[in-house]
Amino acid sequence: MTVETGAPNHPSDDVVEVVSRLIRFDTTNTGDPETTQGEAECANWVAEQLAAVGYQPEYLESGGAGRANVFVRLKGTDSARGALLIHGHLDVVPAEPADWSVHPFSGAVEDGYVWGRGAVDMKDMVGMMIVVARQLKQAGIVPPRDLVFAFVADEEHGGRYGSHWLVDNRPDLFEGVTEAIGEVGGFSLTVPRRDGGERRLYLIETAEKGMQWMKLTARGQAGHGSMANDRNAVTLLAEAVARIGRHQFPLVLTDTVVEFLGAISDETGLTFDTDSDDLEGVIEKLGPMARMLKAIVRDTANPTMLKAGYKANVIPGSAEAVIDCRVLPGRQAAFEAEIDELLGPDVTREWIRDLPSYETTFDGDLVDAMNAAVLAVDPDGRTVPYMLSGGSDAKAFARLGIRCFGFAPLRLPPELDFASLFHGVDERVPVDALRFGTDVLAHFLTHC
Ligand SMILES: [Zn+2]
Repeated sequence: MTVETGAPNHPSDDVVEVVSRLIRFDTTNTGDPETTQGEAECANWVAEQLAAVGYQPEYLESGGAGRANVFVRLKGTDSARGALLIHGHLDVVPAEPADWSVHPFSGAVEDGYVWGRGAVDMKDMVGMMIVVARQLKQAGIVPPRDLVFAFVADEEHGGRYGSHWLVDNRPDLFEGVTEAIGEVGGFSLTVPRRDGGERRLYLIETAEKGMQWMKLTARGQAGHGSMANDRNAVTLLAEAVARIGRHQFPLVLTDTVVEFLGAISDETGLTFDTDSDDLEGVIEKLGPMARMLKAIVRDTANPTMLKAGYKANVIPGSAEAVIDCRVLPGRQAAFEAEIDELLGPDVTREWIRDLPSYETTFDGDLVDAMNAAVLAVDPDGRTVPYMLSGGSDAKAFARLGIRCFGFAPLRLPPELDFASLFHGVDERVPVDALRFGTDVLAHFLTHC
């Protein structure tokens, strides 16, 4: 993209090059602030792209050197309406080049795709945000309400040095913001229609499960490994971990999931027996996306880390484990009661990361504007609400009372296994999907 000169291109012409350039910044978030680099260089580049068309970007670091964020605000015709936040994170998860068909930080444009780490999570949307923000400014378009574009650090490690820091330390950046869009939603899922043919459903995220990491500690009787011991901390911990890991939490459908499954039924004729324990079996018929969708009908608690002992013949006095818990909206108290039952008397628990679930309704003017924008570019599409099984920066912004949606529009080829590209090998995004998304985003931001 030519920054300095020339007549403005149509933004969907520029988006491929911008996304490719963003991928070439290695912004790997290792989870360790010492070894996480590249966000600042990338953020500076983003700020330059926006400054070049007349924005005055605010560059700021959150919680540590190099944890860089960029904010710009575009005034709308009616500031009293409340501003819309459009957010994207600049960091990516690590990638092992030996596993990939192309180098993960090459940003290669081949076979109709832009390849590389971040192509769908989420430098695709960051690129769309940049080109649309530039287009609005260059064309002198005044949006209906104030727009706040935020490019943030550290989403891939829970936003402690990104969104959550910004919310805690710089709430002024979000002044007047009432609603937000970001990842993970707006992509198409093609389903077979009951009358033959296909329907592209555009999944708009209106809910997220909680992301809560729980540390378990068992305390027992320390002693010599050769002697009888009926209060061995390792045994007590292992039993509790196994009980939790094997436990199936009850089927619970929130309003979002009921509405989502209802739309699928309506299009496909599949029926979801919501009292049946085989609901997951029916969801399986939806193809690769089922892996993610199966996780939005129950809480999950997966053991992920174990720590105990320091010598083969010494029984330690305590042992620890970490459980990754993902809890549905409205289920927190019931979930904790079930966990306490499974823990038993000798094991205690504490949250080491506690980001609660989130759910909003699929209605109102902003939803209408998202729907209209999708239909303007894909008249055969249909927007439906869905719940993300993971978490995003929306959890931080929701703490300010902001109503959050996942809306990073992409029209995907039906056969693409989109869910597996997130944090996956050969992450890539179709060039056509980027162009489509840019057109939808431009329509949406000029009609929101
Ligand atoms: Zn992401």
